Amino acid sequence: MLAGRDLERVDAAAARGRYRPGMRALILHGPGDLRLEERPRPTAGPGEVVVEVDAALTCATDAKILARGMHPSLGPVPVPFGHEGAGTVVEAGPEARAAVGDRVVVANSAPCGVCEWCDAGREGLCADIVYLSGTYAQYLWVPARIAAVNLLAIPDGVDPALAALSEPVACGLRGAERSAAAAGQSVVVLGGGLQGQVICAALARRGCEVILCDPHPERRALAVRMGAAATEDAPRDADGLARVRAMTPEGRGANVTVAAVGAVSVWETAVALVRPGGEVNLHGGPGPGEVLGVPAGPVHYGEITLQASYHHTPATFRAALTAISAAPELFAELLGPEIGLSEVAQVLAAGGQKRVVRP
Ligand SMILES: [Zn+2]
Ligand SMILES: [Zn+2]
Repeated sequence: MLAGRDLERVDAAAARGRYRPGMRALILHGPGDLRLEERPRPTAGPGEVVVEVDAALTCATDAKILARGMHPSLGPVPVPFGHEGAGTVVEAGPEARAAVGDRVVVANSAPCGVCEWCDAGREGLCADIVYLSGTYAQYLWVPARIAAVNLLAIPDGVDPALAALSEPVACGLRGAERSAAAAGQSVVVLGGGLQGQVICAALARRGCEVILCDPHPERRALAVRMGAAATEDAPRDADGLARVRAMTPEGRGANVTVAAVGAVSVWETAVALVRPGGEVNLHGGPGPGEVLGVPAGPVHYGEITLQASYHHTPATFRAALTAISAAPELFAELLGPEIGLSEVAQVLAAGGQKRVVRP
C-alpha cells in the first residue's frame, strides 16, 4: 500500500507521465477504507478487453458503497472500485468485439439476454447480470459479456469524460422510460442531482410540464436549461407541500411525481404531491432497512400507481451516449472539476459529487 510521501511521489511522477510499472488503482478494503495501490496491469482473455481509462467519474452510489464497505454487485473485498469510465482499448482478447485503439465507454453491467426479465425488456433486473468494477484505475479489465453487450464506440470529437456519463444518464433515461407521463401532463421531479436533471430533460422533451424541486438555486437554474417549466425549493413541511401543489393544475397535484433522491422522506413527499389517478415513480436508491410509510387511504381512493425504476438497459445505455453526443455542452454542465485518484476518497466521503477523475 502507498501512503503519505510515497503517494505524493507517485502522483508527481504520474503527472510527468513517467510512472508505469504496473498500474495505480483504488482498491476498496472495507467501510471507509479506500486505498491507492500499485497493482499488476490486467490482461485480456477470450472476448475480454483492457481499457486504458481516460476518464472515470465519481458517483453518489460509490459514496454509499464506500460508507458501507460493500455492495452485492462487488463481491468480497478487497476489490477494484469505480463504475463509471471511458477510455481507449489497449488489449483485446481473441474474439473480442473491439480493437486496440478504439475509444470506448463501458457500462457497469451487462444482462444475460435470455432470462424472464431480459425477455421482458427489464434487463436491469436480470437474474444473471454481470457487473464491472474498477474504473478508478489506470487500466480497466472488461469481462467478455460486458465487452460484447455494453461496450460502445465513442463518436469522434466527444470527450471521454462526457461519454462516461452514459451510465448514470442511462439510469435517468430508464426512470423516464418507466413513466407513463404524456405530453401536456404535469410532472413534479423531487431532486435536482444528475438523476433528477436527466429525468426532467427527458420528460420535458416528451412535452410534459415539469416542475423540479431542489434546495440549491444553481440546480434549479440548471433544470430550467434542461427544460423544466418551473422550479421550486424542496418542500420540507406542510407549507412547502402546499406551495408546490398550488403550482400543479387546479392545485390537485401532478399527474406524475418522481422521487429522484434515495431518501424515504422524499418518497413520501412524492406520494403527497400526486393527483388522483396519478403515478409515483420511486427512482433514487434508498439505504438498507429503510421503510416507506405512506397514507393508505389516498393511495387506494386515489387509485395511485406506485412504481420504481432501477439501473439501466442496453437500450437506455445506447440512448444515453446518443443524447450526450448530440448536446455535449448541456451534459458538460453535469460534470464537476477534474481530480486525481488520490482525491477520490475525499470526494466520496463528502457525498460523491460528480468529478472527472483522470487516472
Ligand atoms: Zn453511478
Ligand atoms: Zn437476464
